[in-house]
Amino acid sequence: MTLLYPLDAELDPEVRLRLLGTKASGLNEMTTLGIPVPPGFTITTEVGAEFRKSGKWPDGLAGEVRCALAEVEERVGRRFGDPANPLLLSVRSGAPVSMPGMMDTLLNVGLNEATLAGLASRHANEWFALDAYRRLIQMYGTVVRQIGIDRFQFRLVDLKTKLGRPRMADSDLDVKSMQELVAEYLSLIQEASGSPFPQDVDTQLWDAIGAVFASWGNARAVRYRRMQGIQQATGTACTIQAMVFGNTGTSSGSGVAFTRNPSDGTKQLYGEYLPNAQGEDVVAGLRTPVSLTARAAAPGKEAASLEGSSPEAFAEVSAHCATLERHFGDVQDIEFTIEDGRPYILQTRAAKRTAAAAVRIAVEMVREGVLSKEQALLRVDASSLEQLLQARLPSEGELAARGVRTAANGLPASPGAASGHIVFDADDAVRAAAEGQEVILVRQETRAEDIHGMKVSKGVVTAAGGMTSHAAVVARGLGKCCVVGCAGLRIDFEQRTVRLNDDAEPLHEGDLLTLDGSTGRVYAGALDLVASTTVDELGELMAWADEARRMRVYAEADTPQVARAALSYGAEGVGLCRTERMFFAPDRLFAMQCALLAVEDEQRNHWLGELERAQCEDFVEIFDAMNGRPVTIRLLDRALQELMPEDQRSLRAIADALDLERDEVAKAAARHRESNPAFGHRGVRAGLTIPGLYDMQLRAMLIAAHQCTERKIAVDLEVLIPMVAFTSEVVALRAVFDRVRAQVFGGPTTLFRCRVGTMVELPRACLIADELAEHTDFFSFGGNDLTQFVLGVSRDDADRFLAGYRNELGLVAGDPFTVLDPRVVELMRLALDRGKAAQPGLVAGLCGDQGGSPASIEACERLGLDFVCAPLSQLPGARLAAAQARIR
Ligand code: PEP
Ligand code: MG
Repeated sequence: MTLLYPLDAELDPEVRLRLLGTKASGLNEMTTLGIPVPPGFTITTEVGAEFRKSGKWPDGLAGEVRCALAEVEERVGRRFGDPANPLLLSVRSGAPVSMPGMMDTLLNVGLNEATLAGLASRHANEWFALDAYRRLIQMYGTVVRQIGIDRFQFRLVDLKTKLGRPRMADSDLDVKSMQELVAEYLSLIQEASGSPFPQDVDTQLWDAIGAVFASWGNARAVRYRRMQGIQQATGTACTIQAMVFGNTGTSSGSGVAFTRNPSDGTKQLYGEYLPNAQGEDVVAGLRTPVSLTARAAAPGKEAASLEGSSPEAFAEVSAHCATLERHFGDVQDIEFTIEDGRPYILQTRAAKRTAAAAVRIAVEMVREGVLSKEQALLRVDASSLEQLLQARLPSEGELAARGVRTAANGLPASPGAASGHIVFDADDAVRAAAEGQEVILVRQETRAEDIHGMKVSKGVVTAAGGMTSHAAVVARGLGKCCVVGCAGLRIDFEQRTVRLNDDAEPLHEGDLLTLDGSTGRVYAGALDLVASTTVDELGELMAWADEARRMRVYAEADTPQVARAALSYGAEGVGLCRTERMFFAPDRLFAMQCALLAVEDEQRNHWLGELERAQCEDFVEIFDAMNGRPVTIRLLDRALQELMPEDQRSLRAIADALDLERDEVAKAAARHRESNPAFGHRGVRAGLTIPGLYDMQLRAMLIAAHQCTERKIAVDLEVLIPMVAFTSEVVALRAVFDRVRAQVFGGPTTLFRCRVGTMVELPRACLIADELAEHTDFFSFGGNDLTQFVLGVSRDDADRFLAGYRNELGLVAGDPFTVLDPRVVELMRLALDRGKAAQPGLVAGLCGDQGGSPASIEACERLGLDFVCAPLSQLPGARLAAAQARIR
């Protein structure tokens, strides 16, 4: 086994990353490109792993380090431990996965009482040498001897206090004080750890190497890996490099350069520079850096920029930046140090950037010929695209042309637009949102106890308050659309109504309302929202993604509004319309309750007829919006008890409508109570046992489809059966479908395409997939329920312990309700294999909350699924993720 590699070693990229880690790989790559990097070598991750396991260094390591060090000494013309002309070293960690700042580093290794003078005389600067020495002693103390950093800071403050200036800058300490500080730190090490700071430079080096390797296992790093779901156990490598100094005088300094602007993607060098400083001073932020370029400097400060003050060094740094961006084909975040006018590049890595910058840069790099389209698609983090999609309303002009009028005006407290059902208090908001309803919280003003309601609301509007009111501040923090100070609003909490202006009819709880947090306008009813695409290049990137992907991307949409918005986000159809969510409006819920609780057939049929009309209207609008694209409508899937009346007033109203005693209604409602509703009378089980319920829904779909075809609107209807556990359920349901279709059309119809599919969301359904496939036109895996039933974890209560499992105990890596658990994927694979064995052309896809997550989409691509279905805001991300999965 090779124990270490010099930075200029020629290595296969995959091996390089695994053995040297990201940071050293970057240094290695830069060195081979001829970029000035301080010379050095890297001890591999394998050595680190061996050392952590056995506590011993592998045979031969000491000799190899000695040889590699001799090579470095030769290159820089200084010797490690030489009192006259000492070489100092940095000893750094770096793993194959990036873990910024989580592991340890030691700088200035090789300084002691003997070499101190040599360093001082080389730079003719005693203060500088003492400063380097006290930094080493402190790092050695904290990293190797595990002494709290506070104890070093206390000594420093004590010294400044003794000098009568407790708040003075470190740089104002004179040489004598620096000497005192060094003595203080040396005595602290002895006191706190029981042994002195090692004067032997080899001891310093080996202690540093050991501490760097051990820092893979420190609490900070372990917690970080848990939080990030990093499961790799490779450990860190250790890179030893000649030190360069940015704090030797005015022709030295340290800086950070981004090859393009990381906030908006503009193609201009961007960054900061701190003269006469080490890299850590730039990060610490104690002094204000100057701009890298004259162009970006504040007016009048151009000459102070690196470009203005050291044009030659600037030109050299710029040239290296350009080389690195071209070589890596990506925007780089580069750390550099200039020592006595000579620049050195210390680190380069792909720059973190906003979603907007990522999109712009990816597209521009294709135009510049730097990247292929496929490479560009892989450069954008699919989950970040959600950031770009702040919904907005159509323009004033468009709204006016449609006859939409503003009903109230307030202050635009938090941008974006939202539509939803009115609720008047935070608890109601939480209840309604838990049922999947989109709500707008309407309040006189908000207070701290309202936050849980604000979190789940789509938007918040208050009658009182200004731009810095509680509602405004909290909503901005939550990224929620919010209008405050809407003085025309008259809220009646007793009656649970709100009047938007003096002439308006009161709106009731559950009625629809639309807010525009960017203009402060409030509208009665639900208005269509428009996707906002502020990045000009997004359309182009999305077009490439659509070309590259194989899987179709559908939307979850339960309302015509969402269906229309989904289209503007590039959905190819509706993959899941949850019909149970169409019964939120109070009048519809009431009709549903009457239908479920009626004793007499005639009454039941009457209320089912009401529901049929309402559903039919919605379906027509959704078909219309999707205009021939597939619309997958799922039959009702809701625990019946959740549809039952809660309060006396509702019971009375239902009793009146059904001509029953209130107690009878209450008893009938109580019969729907279950101990475990998620496992109970829901989905197809309710559909097959409650007379007329699914008939009504199927009739509404078929009539709506028929009405559309008569209006020359193309329809592609997919009916989805939820919660299937037995093949016989599908057979029975198909019989219901055939019967209803015969009632509506007198038999099969060729007017529109129509298929019947099965939700595969129970483990038993996966196991009988071969049988199911014989009776069904397609499969839709339900990631939510499948996860719930495979893991035995309630999807509604999972985070009571799963968050702790993840973050504190490290027992699981991710959230299985966000990213499909590998075992769930395995079960899907089994179902798919069985299903395809019975029906080779079987179409299958994924819906549920995981449908928009890039990692789940990648799993779907590997499974060979035909489609994924994502919530509205995740649609562009899903399109990109499907393309990335295909490319990978
Ligand atoms: C699912 O279970 O994944 C699914 C899509 O259905 P629902 O979330 O409505 O139960
Ligand atoms: Mg489900």
